[in-house]
Amino acid sequence: MPNVIDPVRRHAADSPDKTVVREGATDWSYGRLYAAALAYGAALRRDGITTGDRVLLAAPTTPEFIVAYLGIQAVGAIAVPVNTMSTAAEVEYYLSDSSATLAVGWHGLGPAVADGAGTAGVPYRALPSMDPAAAQKTATSTDIDVVDREADDTCAILYTSGTTGRPKGAQITVDNLLAAGEIGAHGARGGADDRTGTGLPLFHVFGQASVMMATFCGGGMLSLLPRFDPVAMIKMLRRDKLTIMCGVPTMWNAMLHAASDASPADFASLRVAVSGGASLPGEVARAFEAKFGCTLLEGYGLTETAAIATFNDIDKGGKIGSVGAPMTRMAVEIRDPIEGHACPPGEVGEVFVQGPTVTTGYWNRPDATEAALRDGWFRTGDLGVLDDEGDLRIVDRLKDLVIRGGYNVYPGEVEEVLYAHPDVVEAAVVGVPDDHYGEEVAALIVVRPGSCADADAIDAWCWERLSAYKVPRLVRFTDSLPKGATGKILKRAIDRAGLRGPTHE
Ligand code: AMP
Repeated sequence: MPNVIDPVRRHAADSPDKTVVREGATDWSYGRLYAAALAYGAALRRDGITTGDRVLLAAPTTPEFIVAYLGIQAVGAIAVPVNTMSTAAEVEYYLSDSSATLAVGWHGLGPAVADGAGTAGVPYRALPSMDPAAAQKTATSTDIDVVDREADDTCAILYTSGTTGRPKGAQITVDNLLAAGEIGAHGARGGADDRTGTGLPLFHVFGQASVMMATFCGGGMLSLLPRFDPVAMIKMLRRDKLTIMCGVPTMWNAMLHAASDASPADFASLRVAVSGGASLPGEVARAFEAKFGCTLLEGYGLTETAAIATFNDIDKGGKIGSVGAPMTRMAVEIRDPIEGHACPPGEVGEVFVQGPTVTTGYWNRPDATEAALRDGWFRTGDLGVLDDEGDLRIVDRLKDLVIRGGYNVYPGEVEEVLYAHPDVVEAAVVGVPDDHYGEEVAALIVVRPGSCADADAIDAWCWERLSAYKVPRLVRFTDSLPKGATGKILKRAIDRAGLRGPTHE
């Protein structure tokens, strides 16, 4: 009978002294991690936590997150990992929506988790810094048996904003996570000799499923950066001679522009750099390769598919603009968004995903579950197109599509042109309401420090490269774009009303 802790339990038995997690100067072996997780499970037991209980967990990308997460799994409870930047009101919402019976918060986080728990009337437990040797010692005296679970038991609830309304909890099962780990490891050809590095948050599905679980399934080592910083990431790459690196496009872009003397020699140990979570601008991929001699391989997945769906084939070497073909045991279908019939290659439609990593639905949301799951397929809300080789290209979010005067404008295509401008560091294209065209195309841009590119220069650049209806009529400059926990640009946080008005004053 399976448990999410199984891969760690297996390696703890086979190679207890092998390092599994490194953070700063601290190494955790498989043996110590497993023992500490059981000790944490025993402490949860003393708090009255039992099979099926929900435990909220707010912690940065640290070994302690992993210890608590696996401890929750060991006792058969359900982990509810949430953003470390959550406010007290958000914590209260997650606790009440999931009917959690305990809130665990990293000791350095500030009062939001404890305050949210207080308002919700849920006990709070601080997650302390742990010393691997001491954690193992505690473990031997308080060992517990790992609870056997059913493959389709929910073991994590991951909140995702979805397209509308308040965040919904995607139910992730034991089998979803174990399959995601196996499929992720297989996709990256990850094994015991691999050293994976990441600054992704572990509370997000990308870090949790396709990085953390994939490392455990492959039996390798995971180097953690509690807070992503491009220079620190490069230092970690050098120090640990990483073989796999995982991040979102804004992280690669930040590494490109970082004040660092990194050269291709630093990237020589890397076998694979996995980009996911958001569309990777072709220009960033090309510039990364030119500067560091390193190919970024793009993948695609969602919270509801435990981060797994498609990935570029390592052996083929990656196709810019493509998120690759369905991974092992996964299937993708493109369907007409209105008629619902399957679209042939070359035709844009809504992306549906099927496979062992697909959620069983949203926690306590039968309507949302019914809307998202159809005859075993998950409806992603993304627009995509398959090419003749079976590789997928994500065109955009269905909801981000801008319809200007009846013409479809895919923001990603316009952003691609903006990123190619030598002075543009980041760009986001959105639709803003317009009396005449229904919607107008607007661009919010971050330029390189010292750049003198103005709206006219951007305008001229776009007119040369895009059909007239796609050219942003509103161009605004900003110092930074709003970003979510993983570093994804948050279009919904852009003040669209503030973008209106004449471009050229
Ligand atoms: P999340 O549930 O936070 O992981 O967000 C999932 C969404 O991220 C998907 O529905 C896509 O819109 C987007 N996404 C993930 N990977 C990619 C990618 N490689 N290219 C474009 N969009 C992506």
